[in-house]
Amino acid sequence: MRYPIADLFHMMPGTDDDKRRHLAISGGAYGAMRLHGLTLDQAERYAERAGLHPYEVWPLMRDDVIAATCEPPPVRVVHALVTCLSCGRPLEFGDTKVDSTGRSGRVEAVCRVGHRNVMRVELEVA
Ligand SMILES: [Zn+2]
Repeated sequence: MRYPIADLFHMMPGTDDDKRRHLAISGGAYGAMRLHGLTLDQAERYAERAGLHPYEVWPLMRDDVIAATCEPPPVRVVHALVTCLSCGRPLEFGDTKVDSTGRSGRVEAVCRVGHRNVMRVELEVA
């Protein structure tokens, strides 16, 4: 499965050059990405760099990931308290569920003043 980079650029401010620079994508690599799309790993990485959740950018990715892993088991966040990357306020995840099998996964939380944080966390199966 490939994900169009245009979908990501569409959700970012600035010119295409600004976006490329922000994502640290060279001109040559950008040309190839426009032609072939992004792999799942690239799509996740660049969405994260842009401060977006990849499922926001490519809603069908969720289905792809579930199809690839069958039904993911419920998981909960082990480290339940971390701080906002923007302002340092505590973020409480509680039993936030994430879509991941494995020992780490990606979770999204919003702090009290509204900064969105997308981060990798350690997980355990509930
Ligand atoms: Zn914050």
